[in-house]
Amino acid sequence: PANRLSQFSESVIRGMTRLANRCGAINLSQGFPDFDPPEEILSALETATRGPHHQYAVTWGAPRFREALAQKISRNTGLSIDPDQHLVVTCGSTEAMMVAMMTACNPGDKVIVFSPFYENYAADAILSGAEPIYVTLNAPDFGYNPQELEAAFEQKPKAIIVCNPSNPTGKVFTPEELTHIITLAEKHDAYVITDEPYEHIVYPPHVHTYAASLPGAWERVITCNSLSKTYSITGWRLGYVLAPQEVIAQARKVHDFLTVGAAAPLQEAAVSGLELPDQYYSDLQDLYSRKREVFLGYLRQTGLPFTEPQGAYYVMVDISSLGFETDTQAAEWFARKVGVAGVPGSSFFREPEHRFIRFHFAKKEETLHAAGKRLLLLA
Ligand code: GLN
Repeated sequence: PANRLSQFSESVIRGMTRLANRCGAINLSQGFPDFDPPEEILSALETATRGPHHQYAVTWGAPRFREALAQKISRNTGLSIDPDQHLVVTCGSTEAMMVAMMTACNPGDKVIVFSPFYENYAADAILSGAEPIYVTLNAPDFGYNPQELEAAFEQKPKAIIVCNPSNPTGKVFTPEELTHIITLAEKHDAYVITDEPYEHIVYPPHVHTYAASLPGAWERVITCNSLSKTYSITGWRLGYVLAPQEVIAQARKVHDFLTVGAAAPLQEAAVSGLELPDQYYSDLQDLYSRKREVFLGYLRQTGLPFTEPQGAYYVMVDISSLGFETDTQAAEWFARKVGVAGVPGSSFFREPEHRFIRFHFAKKEETLHAAGKRLLLLA
């Protein structure tokens, strides 16, 4: 096998789901809902399966889907998105990130990654031949040190990856931070690759800012995104890359030879999600705000320290007081003995950091109560 494959392991996140299933633990590891997508999407899926959508969609995305996507993005960002020029529909944000990396980077190019980071980015960098350089997001508020970021840009990176709202920290980047990042990227002629699947899961007073919509940003931002979290359809694998036409022309080639296209009937059915009114998104925000309160309520009672997430649906819990040698041992113990599975925090850090377990709360309230009651046995 290729040498590059020895540089990373299988996903720990997805491995924890398998462990949770084996030992019957409540699965708060890999982040996905245990509730259904909206009714509009379910009924559109039934119709789509009886329609003429069983062969390949257009490689860049089914026209109706791209049209609905462009309208939704234009509405949210204030940008004027052309469905024929600015979009490639991918198999989830996972493929979108891989496409963005392979489009932006030559082998040997450096890419700035904030640490802690979503697990896939290190593997994406290695697979695309790029070399990650890390800038720390410092606990407890997971802010970055501007000088450290400026020093990283001095190493002439080709791109910086920004997950916003951030998985696993729950940080929501402010317009000022994003402007700082974009200004540095402009100065050093780098791309800003964003990953924004939690755009609609943000807790007031925090507000999501689309990096691509900031002044002067459009030309260098490659936005990766997904429908998974917004419409509770993680298994549908629908995502996209949004960028200027010159970037998309190249990104389409990468996508073409990686996967040919995302599932045609699912693109058709997901149009009904993209056409939902604004009320859907404010209800989603309320729904997740309640879930967050339920779960954080139990965490507070355990006495374990954690940082309240500003967005997304993860929380990094400091388990150092429990006395385990590593977070991996702690996560195994949580899954097997407490009956609640989380992800060992070390899989999100560059440096050996064993203080955290990441739990997610994208679950029905009854699931969160059941998990919370098990966690209270620690109190
Ligand atoms: N984003 C989810 C998580 O961090 C899972 C994504 C995936 O497994 N593709 O848990």
